[in-house]
Amino acid sequence: MSVLIVGTTALDSIKTPTAENPRLLGGSASHAAVAASFFAPVKLVGVVGEDFPGKYITLYRRHKIDLAGLQTLPGKTFHWSGEYESNMNNRRTLATELGVIETFLPTLPKAYQSVPFVLLGNIAPALQNHVLNQMTRPRFVVADSMDLWLNIALPDLLKLLKRLDGFVLNDSEAHQLTKTDNVFSALKKIHALGPKYVIIKKGSHGSILSGPKGFFICPAYPLTKVIDPTGAGDSFVGGLMGYLAAAKGPIDANIRRAMVYGSVVASFCCEGFGVNRTTKIRHSDIEKRVKELENLTRF
Ligand code: AMP
Repeated sequence: MSVLIVGTTALDSIKTPTAENPRLLGGSASHAAVAASFFAPVKLVGVVGEDFPGKYITLYRRHKIDLAGLQTLPGKTFHWSGEYESNMNNRRTLATELGVIETFLPTLPKAYQSVPFVLLGNIAPALQNHVLNQMTRPRFVVADSMDLWLNIALPDLLKLLKRLDGFVLNDSEAHQLTKTDNVFSALKKIHALGPKYVIIKKGSHGSILSGPKGFFICPAYPLTKVIDPTGAGDSFVGGLMGYLAAAKGPIDANIRRAMVYGSVVASFCCEGFGVNRTTKIRHSDIEKRVKELENLTRF
């Protein structure tokens, strides 16, 4: 089964303590789409400007990502630049230039409207709602978000939460949304806002799922060197949704393993700038790390 993925398709300029890389392929939808493409066919919804390099379109195509829902508008592609501190965890946004995304209102191609698995990647919640309005009875809808939308678009986000099966957020966003530091009471409060499945990401400390079958603690793959963690969260949820779309049987039977696969794809994302590393791995590389995680967590 296919996965529909909406989010930003961006150019990212990323600075770390040791290197600087301008205008890389980035955006929540790009990272998630590449990650999901290892498991299932992906249909992308996004917008780019006339400055979007052709080599990035080629790269999407190499991953067999359906681009019928990718619009090109006159103007500039969404551009984000950020800088990491030496711990490679704390990140500062240096600039966000909205460009063509400012006026973007996607109309889904007919073939997209009945896709069963929907990932509403990080983008304005009004747009996430707009995409969902065009879907006919999707089987499983998951959204990601960020602190910006909690600050400036909370009513839209709360409206969206009521319509979701799953919501993925990081621990600081969970704290911001629920005003609690305790991860388990935060999970409970987020369930009360709508989603049956809630996943709180804790960066290099893994993630926690709360769902109908209780909790699951998912480890992060132990990396000794992080090159650029931009897009790790998007890769995690992209991998998770791709795995679920390809798996047979009920969500509850597959979601734990889907998180482990998402976690492994995210680990590859951290090992290169942008999608540089993720676009070079093979399925067998993913399987190898999943096995390692399995051995690391069995007791
Ligand atoms: P992550 O590291 O998982 O938080 O995702 C980073 C990605 O989010 C980058 O590739 C950015 O292009 C993208 N991004 C940055 N700011 C925004 C924003 N305001 N809305 C949507 N995507 C964004």
